[in-house]
Amino acid sequence: MSENIERFKTLILGSGPAGYTAAIYAARADLKPVVYTGMEPGGQLTTTTEVENFPGYPEGIDGPTMMVQLQQQAERFGTDVRIGMATAVEFSDEPGGIHKVTIDDSKVVEAETVIISTGASAKYLGLPSEQRLRGGGVSACAVCDGFFYKGQDVAIVGGGDTAAEEASYLAKICKSVTMLVRKDHMRASKAMQNRVMNISNIDIRFNTEIDEVLGDQVVEGLRMVNNQTGEKEEIAITGLFIAIGHKPNTDIFKGQLDMDETGYILTPGKSTKTNKPGVFASGDVQDKDYRQAVTAAGTGCMAALDAERYLAEVESPEEVEEA
Ligand SMILES: Cc1cc2nc3c(=O)[nH]c(=O)nc-3n(C[C@H](O)[C@H](O)[C@H](O)COP(=O)(O)OP(=O)(O)OC[C@H]3O[C@@H](n4cnc5c(N)ncnc54)[C@H](O)[C@@H]3O)c2cc1C
Repeated sequence: MSENIERFKTLILGSGPAGYTAAIYAARADLKPVVYTGMEPGGQLTTTTEVENFPGYPEGIDGPTMMVQLQQQAERFGTDVRIGMATAVEFSDEPGGIHKVTIDDSKVVEAETVIISTGASAKYLGLPSEQRLRGGGVSACAVCDGFFYKGQDVAIVGGGDTAAEEASYLAKICKSVTMLVRKDHMRASKAMQNRVMNISNIDIRFNTEIDEVLGDQVVEGLRMVNNQTGEKEEIAITGLFIAIGHKPNTDIFKGQLDMDETGYILTPGKSTKTNKPGVFASGDVQDKDYRQAVTAAGTGCMAALDAERYLAEVESPEEVEEA
Protein backbone atom coordinates (compact mmCIF):
# COMPACT_ATOMS: atom_id res chain seq x y z
CA MET A 1 0.00 0.00 0.00
CA SER A 2 1.29 3.43 -0.91
CA GLU A 3 2.06 5.61 2.11
CA ASN A 4 -0.16 8.43 0.95
CA ILE A 5 -3.28 6.41 0.36
CA GLU A 6 -5.60 5.86 3.32
CA ARG A 7 -7.17 2.42 3.56
CA PHE A 8 -10.37 1.70 5.50
CA LYS A 9 -12.12 -1.47 6.51
CA THR A 10 -15.50 0.06 5.72
CA LEU A 11 -16.15 3.14 3.64
CA ILE A 12 -19.71 4.49 3.62
CA LEU A 13 -20.85 6.85 0.88
CA GLY A 14 -23.81 8.99 1.95
CA SER A 15 -25.06 10.48 5.20
CA GLY A 16 -28.80 9.87 5.12
CA PRO A 17 -30.64 7.41 7.39
CA ALA A 18 -29.12 4.45 5.49
CA GLY A 19 -25.52 5.68 5.67
CA TYR A 20 -25.63 6.68 9.35
CA THR A 21 -27.40 3.49 10.42
CA ALA A 22 -24.79 1.46 8.54
CA ALA A 23 -22.16 3.54 10.36
CA ILE A 24 -23.68 2.87 13.80
CA TYR A 25 -23.62 -0.89 13.21
CA ALA A 26 -20.22 -0.91 11.52
CA ALA A 27 -18.63 1.20 14.26
CA ARG A 28 -20.03 -1.01 17.01
CA ALA A 29 -18.59 -4.03 15.16
CA ASP A 30 -15.18 -2.30 15.22
CA LEU A 31 -15.02 -1.84 11.45
CA LYS A 32 -13.88 1.77 12.03
CA PRO A 33 -16.15 3.19 9.33
CA VAL A 34 -15.49 6.41 7.48
CA VAL A 35 -18.54 8.24 6.11
CA TYR A 36 -18.28 10.70 3.25
CA THR A 37 -21.37 12.90 3.50
CA GLY A 38 -21.81 13.95 -0.12
CA MET A 39 -23.26 17.32 -1.09
CA GLU A 40 -26.28 16.99 1.18
CA PRO A 41 -25.05 16.14 4.70
CA GLY A 42 -27.93 14.39 6.46
CA GLY A 43 -29.67 13.50 3.20
CA GLN A 44 -33.22 14.14 2.05
CA LEU A 45 -34.73 14.51 5.51
CA THR A 46 -32.84 17.77 5.95
CA THR A 47 -35.26 19.23 3.39
CA THR A 48 -38.36 18.54 5.46
CA THR A 49 -39.69 20.10 8.63
CA GLU A 50 -41.72 17.43 10.37
CA VAL A 51 -41.04 13.68 10.50
CA GLU A 52 -43.89 11.96 12.31
CA ASN A 53 -43.51 8.36 11.21
CA PHE A 54 -40.02 7.40 12.34
CA PRO A 55 -40.39 5.05 15.32
CA GLY A 56 -39.18 6.39 18.65
CA TYR A 57 -40.32 9.98 18.28
CA PRO A 58 -43.86 10.08 19.70
CA GLU A 59 -44.09 13.87 19.27
CA GLY A 60 -42.45 13.84 15.82
CA ILE A 61 -39.14 15.54 15.09
CA ASP A 62 -37.88 17.95 12.48
CA GLY A 63 -35.79 16.31 9.77
CA PRO A 64 -32.52 18.25 10.26
CA THR A 65 -32.55 17.61 14.04
CA MET A 66 -33.16 13.91 13.52
CA MET A 67 -30.23 13.68 11.13
CA VAL A 68 -27.87 15.53 13.52
CA GLN A 69 -28.86 13.02 16.20
CA LEU A 70 -28.18 10.09 13.85
CA GLN A 71 -24.76 11.56 13.06
CA GLN A 72 -24.01 11.98 16.76
CA GLN A 73 -25.05 8.39 17.43
CA ALA A 74 -22.70 7.16 14.68
CA GLU A 75 -19.85 9.35 16.00
CA ARG A 76 -20.39 8.15 19.55
CA PHE A 77 -19.09 4.73 18.50
CA GLY A 78 -16.13 6.14 16.60
CA THR A 79 -17.41 6.79 13.06
CA ASP A 80 -15.21 9.24 11.20
CA VAL A 81 -17.61 11.60 9.36
CA ARG A 82 -16.02 13.63 6.59
CA ILE A 83 -17.34 16.22 4.19
CA GLY A 84 -16.66 15.04 0.66
CA MET A 85 -18.20 13.42 -2.34
CA ALA A 86 -17.23 10.27 -4.20
CA THR A 87 -16.55 11.27 -7.79
CA ALA A 88 -15.16 8.03 -9.25
CA VAL A 89 -14.87 4.39 -8.22
CA GLU A 90 -12.83 1.39 -9.21
CA PHE A 91 -14.30 -1.71 -7.63
CA SER A 92 -12.34 -4.95 -7.46
CA ASP A 93 -13.83 -8.15 -8.89
CA GLU A 94 -11.86 -10.39 -6.51
CA PRO A 95 -13.16 -11.55 -3.14
CA GLY A 96 -10.96 -9.78 -0.59
CA GLY A 97 -9.87 -7.25 -3.25
CA ILE A 98 -9.32 -3.59 -2.47
CA HIS A 99 -11.73 -0.96 -3.80
CA LYS A 100 -10.59 2.50 -4.82
CA VAL A 101 -12.77 5.57 -4.47
CA THR A 102 -11.89 9.08 -5.60
CA ILE A 103 -13.11 11.87 -3.35
CA ASP A 104 -13.86 15.34 -4.76
CA ASP A 105 -11.91 14.55 -7.94
CA SER A 106 -8.70 14.95 -6.00
CA LYS A 107 -7.96 12.25 -3.45
CA VAL A 108 -8.06 8.46 -3.76
CA VAL A 109 -8.96 6.31 -0.76
CA GLU A 110 -9.01 2.53 -0.51
CA ALA A 111 -11.46 0.26 1.27
CA GLU A 112 -11.95 -3.41 1.98
CA THR A 113 -15.72 -2.91 1.95
CA VAL A 114 -17.84 -0.10 0.54
CA ILE A 115 -21.43 0.64 1.53
CA ILE A 116 -23.23 2.79 -1.01
CA SER A 117 -26.03 4.87 0.54
CA THR A 118 -26.16 7.73 -1.92
CA GLY A 119 -29.96 7.94 -2.04
CA ALA A 120 -32.28 9.04 -4.80
CA SER A 121 -33.31 12.60 -5.55
CA ALA A 122 -36.92 13.51 -6.22
CA LYS A 123 -37.44 15.26 -9.54
CA TYR A 124 -39.12 18.66 -9.46
CA LEU A 125 -40.64 20.71 -12.26
CA GLY A 126 -38.19 23.56 -11.73
CA LEU A 127 -40.73 26.40 -11.58
CA PRO A 128 -39.53 29.27 -9.33
CA SER A 129 -42.84 29.27 -7.40
CA GLU A 130 -42.58 25.51 -6.85
CA GLN A 131 -39.01 25.80 -5.53
CA ARG A 132 -39.89 28.75 -3.29
CA LEU A 133 -42.73 26.82 -1.64
CA ARG A 134 -40.88 23.53 -1.07
CA GLY A 135 -41.52 22.76 2.59
CA GLY A 136 -44.37 25.29 2.55
CA GLY A 137 -46.90 22.97 0.99
CA VAL A 138 -44.95 21.61 -1.98
CA SER A 139 -43.71 18.07 -1.33
CA ALA A 140 -42.33 15.17 -3.32
CA CYS A 141 -43.56 12.53 -0.88
CA ALA A 142 -47.29 11.92 -0.39
CA VAL A 143 -46.78 9.06 2.06
CA CYS A 144 -44.54 11.30 4.18
CA ASP A 145 -46.48 14.56 4.08
CA GLY A 146 -50.06 13.70 3.01
CA PHE A 147 -51.24 13.48 6.61
CA PHE A 148 -50.54 17.19 7.14
CA TYR A 149 -53.31 17.96 4.61
CA LYS A 150 -56.00 15.80 6.17
CA GLY A 151 -59.46 16.98 5.10
CA GLN A 152 -57.99 19.63 2.75
CA ASP A 153 -57.88 20.18 -1.02
CA VAL A 154 -54.61 19.14 -2.65
CA ALA A 155 -53.17 18.56 -6.13
CA ILE A 156 -50.69 16.07 -7.51
CA VAL A 157 -48.60 16.26 -10.67
CA GLY A 158 -47.70 13.16 -12.69
CA GLY A 159 -49.20 10.40 -14.77
CA GLY A 160 -47.14 7.33 -13.89
CA ASP A 161 -47.73 4.47 -11.47
CA THR A 162 -46.25 6.36 -8.52
CA ALA A 163 -48.44 9.40 -9.17
CA ALA A 164 -51.52 7.18 -9.45
CA GLU A 165 -50.66 5.30 -6.28
CA GLU A 166 -49.96 8.52 -4.38
CA ALA A 167 -53.19 10.10 -5.68
CA SER A 168 -55.24 7.19 -4.34
CA TYR A 169 -53.35 7.40 -1.03
CA LEU A 170 -54.09 11.13 -0.77
CA ALA A 171 -57.74 10.62 -1.72
CA LYS A 172 -58.25 8.59 1.46
CA ILE A 173 -56.94 11.41 3.66
CA CYS A 174 -57.78 14.61 1.80
CA LYS A 175 -61.05 16.20 0.80
CA SER A 176 -60.20 16.41 -2.89
CA VAL A 177 -57.26 15.59 -5.14
CA THR A 178 -56.76 17.32 -8.47
CA MET A 179 -54.42 15.25 -10.62
CA LEU A 180 -52.52 17.06 -13.37
CA VAL A 181 -51.41 14.88 -16.28
CA ARG A 182 -49.28 16.55 -18.95
CA LYS A 183 -50.31 14.24 -21.78
CA ASP A 184 -53.76 13.21 -23.02
CA HIS A 185 -53.31 9.85 -21.32
CA MET A 186 -51.65 8.38 -18.23
CA ARG A 187 -48.42 6.40 -18.31
CA ALA A 188 -49.57 4.32 -15.34
CA SER A 189 -50.62 0.69 -15.79
CA LYS A 190 -54.21 0.06 -16.83
CA ALA A 191 -55.00 -1.29 -13.36
CA MET A 192 -53.70 1.86 -11.67
CA GLN A 193 -55.53 4.08 -14.18
CA ASN A 194 -58.79 2.29 -13.45
CA ARG A 195 -58.20 2.67 -9.76
CA VAL A 196 -57.77 6.46 -9.80
CA MET A 197 -60.57 6.95 -12.32
CA ASN A 198 -62.97 5.19 -9.99
CA ILE A 199 -62.18 7.28 -6.94
CA SER A 200 -64.83 9.96 -6.65
CA ASN A 201 -62.71 12.69 -5.01
CA ILE A 202 -59.92 12.52 -7.62
CA ASP A 203 -60.37 14.96 -10.49
CA ILE A 204 -58.00 14.08 -13.36
CA ARG A 205 -57.04 16.90 -15.70
CA PHE A 206 -55.34 15.72 -18.89
CA ASN A 207 -53.16 17.99 -21.08
CA THR A 208 -52.70 20.13 -18.01
CA GLU A 209 -49.57 21.67 -16.51
CA ILE A 210 -48.79 24.08 -13.72
CA ASP A 211 -48.46 27.70 -14.74
CA GLU A 212 -47.73 28.89 -11.20
CA VAL A 213 -48.02 27.74 -7.61
CA LEU A 214 -49.86 30.48 -5.75
CA GLY A 215 -49.05 31.65 -2.22
CA ASP A 216 -46.51 33.75 -0.42
CA GLN A 217 -45.21 31.69 2.52
CA VAL A 218 -47.42 28.62 2.03
CA VAL A 219 -49.34 27.11 -0.87
CA GLU A 220 -52.74 28.75 -1.31
CA GLY A 221 -53.61 27.69 -4.83
CA LEU A 222 -52.56 26.66 -8.27
CA ARG A 223 -52.84 28.26 -11.68
CA MET A 224 -53.14 25.48 -14.24
CA VAL A 225 -52.81 25.77 -17.99
CA ASN A 226 -54.25 23.49 -20.65
CA ASN A 227 -51.30 22.86 -22.98
CA GLN A 228 -53.64 22.36 -25.98
CA THR A 229 -55.91 25.38 -25.65
CA GLY A 230 -53.76 27.69 -23.52
CA GLU A 231 -56.72 28.18 -21.22
CA LYS A 232 -55.78 28.99 -17.62
CA GLU A 233 -57.68 28.15 -14.44
CA GLU A 234 -57.02 28.81 -10.77
CA ILE A 235 -57.96 26.44 -7.97
CA ALA A 236 -57.55 26.75 -4.21
CA ILE A 237 -55.34 24.07 -2.63
CA THR A 238 -53.10 23.85 0.43
CA GLY A 239 -50.79 21.03 -0.65
CA LEU A 240 -49.07 20.22 -3.93
CA PHE A 241 -47.39 16.86 -4.48
CA ILE A 242 -44.85 16.39 -7.25
CA ALA A 243 -44.79 12.77 -8.41
CA ILE A 244 -42.80 12.86 -11.62
CA GLY A 245 -40.14 10.40 -10.55
CA HIS A 246 -36.87 10.02 -8.69
CA LYS A 247 -33.30 9.82 -9.91
CA PRO A 248 -31.04 7.44 -8.00
CA ASN A 249 -27.60 8.95 -7.36
CA THR A 250 -25.70 6.22 -9.16
CA ASP A 251 -24.06 7.86 -12.18
CA ILE A 252 -20.54 7.20 -10.89
CA PHE A 253 -21.25 3.47 -10.47
CA LYS A 254 -22.48 2.92 -14.03
CA GLY A 255 -20.58 0.21 -15.87
CA GLN A 256 -19.36 -1.30 -12.59
CA LEU A 257 -22.49 -2.23 -10.70
CA ASP A 258 -25.60 -4.00 -11.99
CA MET A 259 -28.57 -1.64 -12.07
CA ASP A 260 -32.13 -1.71 -13.31
CA GLU A 261 -33.18 0.32 -16.34
CA THR A 262 -33.77 3.41 -14.20
CA GLY A 263 -30.41 3.30 -12.44
CA TYR A 264 -31.32 1.70 -9.10
CA ILE A 265 -28.55 -0.61 -7.84
CA LEU A 266 -29.57 -4.27 -7.88
CA THR A 267 -29.16 -6.18 -4.62
CA PRO A 268 -30.81 -9.50 -5.41
CA GLY A 269 -32.53 -11.56 -2.75
CA LYS A 270 -32.63 -10.73 0.91
CA SER A 271 -29.28 -8.95 1.15
CA THR A 272 -27.54 -5.71 0.30
CA LYS A 273 -24.86 -7.41 -1.83
CA THR A 274 -24.13 -5.97 -5.25
CA ASN A 275 -22.44 -7.85 -8.08
CA LYS A 276 -19.00 -6.81 -6.73
CA PRO A 277 -17.64 -8.71 -3.73
CA GLY A 278 -17.36 -6.40 -0.71
CA VAL A 279 -19.58 -3.68 -2.20
CA PHE A 280 -23.01 -3.26 -0.63
CA ALA A 281 -25.90 -0.87 -1.26
CA SER A 282 -28.54 0.36 1.17
CA GLY A 283 -31.40 2.85 1.28
CA ASP A 284 -33.22 4.61 -1.53
CA VAL A 285 -30.36 3.96 -3.94
CA GLN A 286 -31.45 0.31 -4.13
CA ASP A 287 -35.13 0.66 -3.26
CA LYS A 288 -37.60 2.28 -5.60
CA ASP A 289 -40.64 0.77 -3.90
CA TYR A 290 -40.65 2.02 -0.30
CA ARG A 291 -38.32 5.05 -0.11
CA GLN A 292 -38.86 5.77 3.57
CA ALA A 293 -36.40 6.73 6.29
CA VAL A 294 -37.15 3.66 8.36
CA THR A 295 -36.69 1.25 5.45
CA ALA A 296 -33.47 3.06 4.47
CA ALA A 297 -32.22 2.69 8.05
CA GLY A 298 -33.20 -0.99 8.00
CA THR A 299 -31.17 -1.74 4.91
CA GLY A 300 -28.30 0.36 6.32
CA CYS A 301 -28.20 -2.04 9.25
CA MET A 302 -28.29 -5.00 6.84
CA ALA A 303 -25.41 -3.57 4.78
CA ALA A 304 -23.17 -3.21 7.85
CA LEU A 305 -23.95 -6.78 8.93
CA ASP A 306 -23.32 -8.03 5.39
CA ALA A 307 -19.99 -6.16 5.32
CA GLU A 308 -18.98 -7.59 8.68
CA ARG A 309 -19.78 -11.15 7.57
CA TYR A 310 -17.98 -10.64 4.27
CA LEU A 311 -14.83 -9.45 6.05
CA ALA A 312 -14.97 -12.39 8.45
CA GLU A 313 -15.34 -14.74 5.49
CA VAL A 314 -12.43 -13.36 3.47
CA GLU A 315 -10.22 -13.21 6.57
CA SER A 316 -10.96 -16.75 7.85
CA PRO A 317 -13.13 -18.67 5.38
CA GLU A 318 -12.90 -21.98 7.29
CA GLU A 319 -14.11 -20.51 10.58
CA VAL A 320 -17.15 -18.92 8.93
CA GLU A 321 -18.02 -22.17 7.16
CA GLU A 322 -17.80 -24.14 10.41
CA ALA A 323 -20.00 -21.64 12.28
C1 LIG B 1 -39.61 16.34 1.29
C2 LIG B 1 -39.40 14.94 1.79
C3 LIG B 1 -40.00 14.57 2.98
C4 LIG B 1 -39.81 13.28 3.46
N1 LIG B 1 -40.41 12.94 4.63
C5 LIG B 1 -40.26 11.68 5.11
C6 LIG B 1 -40.89 11.29 6.33
O1 LIG B 1 -41.61 12.07 6.96
N2 LIG B 1 -40.70 10.02 6.75
C7 LIG B 1 -39.93 9.11 6.05
O2 LIG B 1 -39.78 7.97 6.49
N3 LIG B 1 -39.33 9.46 4.90
C8 LIG B 1 -39.49 10.71 4.41
N4 LIG B 1 -38.90 11.06 3.23
C9 LIG B 1 -38.13 10.04 2.50
C10 LIG B 1 -36.74 9.90 3.15
O3 LIG B 1 -36.16 11.17 3.25
C11 LIG B 1 -35.87 8.96 2.35
O4 LIG B 1 -36.52 7.72 2.15
C12 LIG B 1 -34.55 8.71 3.08
O5 LIG B 1 -33.91 9.93 3.38
C13 LIG B 1 -33.61 7.83 2.26
O6 LIG B 1 -32.44 7.69 2.97
P1 LIG B 1 -31.06 7.31 2.27
O7 LIG B 1 -30.07 7.27 3.36
O8 LIG B 1 -31.23 6.14 1.41
O9 LIG B 1 -30.75 8.51 1.27
P2 LIG B 1 -30.76 10.10 1.38
O10 LIG B 1 -31.46 10.59 2.59
O11 LIG B 1 -31.22 10.57 0.05
O12 LIG B 1 -29.22 10.44 1.55
C14 LIG B 1 -28.33 10.26 0.50
C15 LIG B 1 -26.97 10.74 0.95
O13 LIG B 1 -26.01 10.39 -0.03
C16 LIG B 1 -25.14 11.48 -0.23
N5 LIG B 1 -24.51 11.32 -1.55
C17 LIG B 1 -25.09 11.38 -2.79
N6 LIG B 1 -24.17 11.17 -3.74
C18 LIG B 1 -22.98 10.96 -3.10
C19 LIG B 1 -21.66 10.69 -3.51
N7 LIG B 1 -21.34 10.61 -4.81
N8 LIG B 1 -20.68 10.54 -2.56
C20 LIG B 1 -20.98 10.62 -1.23
N9 LIG B 1 -22.23 10.86 -0.78
C21 LIG B 1 -23.20 11.04 -1.70
C22 LIG B 1 -26.01 12.70 -0.05
O14 LIG B 1 -25.22 13.85 0.25
C23 LIG B 1 -26.86 12.25 1.14
O15 LIG B 1 -26.18 12.50 2.34
C24 LIG B 1 -39.04 12.35 2.73
C25 LIG B 1 -38.41 12.74 1.54
C26 LIG B 1 -38.58 14.03 1.07
C27 LIG B 1 -37.89 14.44 -0.20
